[in-house]
Amino acid sequence: MKIGFVGAGVGTLHAALLLTARHPGVEITIFEKEAHVGGRLRSVDFESGGRIDEGPTIVLMPGKLKEQLAEAGVTGVELERVDPLYDLHFDDGTVVTKVADVVDQAIAIERQFGEGRGFYEFMHQKEKDYETSVSKFLERGYRRKTELLHPDMMRPLLQMHALETAHDHLKRYFKSKYLRMAYSFPTFYIGGNPYTTPSIYGLIPYREQAEGVWYVKGGYFSLAERMYDTLVERGVRFVFEAPVERIFIDQGQAKEIVLQDGTQEAFDQIVLNGEFPLMERLVEGKQPKTYTPSGGTLLLYFKMKGKVDLPVHRFLMPNDLEPLMTNIFKKGRLPEHPAVYLFHPSRIDRSLTGTDDSVVYSLIPSPRGYGVEDYEEVDFIETVLEKIEHHHPGFREKIQEMKIRTPNDAQAFGLYQGGSFGIAPTIRQSAALKTQAKPYPDIDRLYAVGASVHPCGGVPVVMMGATILVNRMEQEMGWKHEFSDDPERVYQM
Ligand SMILES: Cc1cc2nc3c(=O)[nH]c(=O)nc-3n(C[C@H](O)[C@H](O)[C@H](O)COP(=O)(O)OP(=O)(O)OC[C@H]3O[C@@H](n4cnc5c(N)ncnc54)[C@H](O)[C@@H]3O)c2cc1C
Repeated sequence: MKIGFVGAGVGTLHAALLLTARHPGVEITIFEKEAHVGGRLRSVDFESGGRIDEGPTIVLMPGKLKEQLAEAGVTGVELERVDPLYDLHFDDGTVVTKVADVVDQAIAIERQFGEGRGFYEFMHQKEKDYETSVSKFLERGYRRKTELLHPDMMRPLLQMHALETAHDHLKRYFKSKYLRMAYSFPTFYIGGNPYTTPSIYGLIPYREQAEGVWYVKGGYFSLAERMYDTLVERGVRFVFEAPVERIFIDQGQAKEIVLQDGTQEAFDQIVLNGEFPLMERLVEGKQPKTYTPSGGTLLLYFKMKGKVDLPVHRFLMPNDLEPLMTNIFKKGRLPEHPAVYLFHPSRIDRSLTGTDDSVVYSLIPSPRGYGVEDYEEVDFIETVLEKIEHHHPGFREKIQEMKIRTPNDAQAFGLYQGGSFGIAPTIRQSAALKTQAKPYPDIDRLYAVGASVHPCGGVPVVMMGATILVNRMEQEMGWKHEFSDDPERVYQM
């Protein structure tokens, strides 16, 4: 059995690991247009020495991540708890700190806002909602859009008030605008606007508080390197700098991968892992559809002279997040008061520089379609640097090197319309309404995995999508394996 993958993102890597663990005889080839594995999971390397993650930084659902790596047989990945999780510094001086211990968190919220009880209620209710969401929505695939209308699916959605927006839903638990922002802004981790994204995605901040925020020792990019090493040990073939141009379809079956240089190779099964709206353009006979892209980001990476006084994660927030989100998502304008996320991994991981110097990453939500010249025109990067300097006097003096990535760079890399996180988490792009592991009912042996495919973006969640994919491939091929279950319960209407 020969399986070909287009793209070497984490979706492909995890699917290939599961396939080789369960079916050692399978022959896998992975075509990647870049010279490295991991897709968004890669590092930025500084000329003056040192590296830092280019994309993901926050390990959410660490329990799930560990379980998935164990199932795939990947060893040697160490996770470290980050406590406090992070703090949010609002422009008016209010500081909200999130800590790992839930009781300590409740006490802190009670002292600061008198809302400890609301916090407990939030945690208690969301624990139930999370369990339901994982089994009903995250860990299963769909065969028909109408499955969502089945009472077994609709009932929990209504009970969870899943269609309220993530921000408005928090009015049920918190009066403070700071708490509402603090527990809804993480929908942006998957590129969603908290003021329009359904509250089912608002489970991210619950899970973050329940399990804590963790760090992959050596950087998130080292996870992709470890997955790659394991696949190479298992005989998987990687072809780098090999952009795929076309998927040849014959009599309703995916047959061949055709590279840009004209090389073509036949496979029994083909999996698409690049951004699905773009992959769709490669499939012979298919008309590309329009999707809503996720939010864009301006990314600044700093190599710093010596140590800096910053926690691992910090958010510098405007007093009101809604105008910022409206500017970015609806008006396509730069915000007057930006939000700045700072990631400082060298605080707990000196291996990134190997010296006393530091590396810092800064992510600023930004409209898509912007390049360096657009930021220069209005001195936006200067505004961001001033904001960082205001909170951390002396920061600018320590900058040795700065690298910039814009939404236009993301688009050039192959992220749909320059959104950082795949297609946006909207109702129309969720669950049964989203592209599934088998994207076309009329094309056999063609599959898809990745942030723009069900369930959604985020490293452990894309890996859950890889499990759904492999289960589906096994069902269709009639393969049996020791983990067999029935992940795809089809609800008939
Ligand atoms: C700035 C940023 C911050 C993030 N922060 C977090 C975080 O803190 N925590 C978290 O869990 N997640 C985070 N994410 C999201 C996470 O990185 C993604 O959800 C995940 O890595 C997507 O994996 P994927 O399988 O979709 O593959 P991708 O990363 O999209 O990789 C797809 C691969 O396909 C290749 N490809 C595309 N087209 C072709 C072609 N025609 N031929 C050959 N190869 C092709 C690409 O080069 C790429 O290597 C972040 C993402 C970004 C960008």
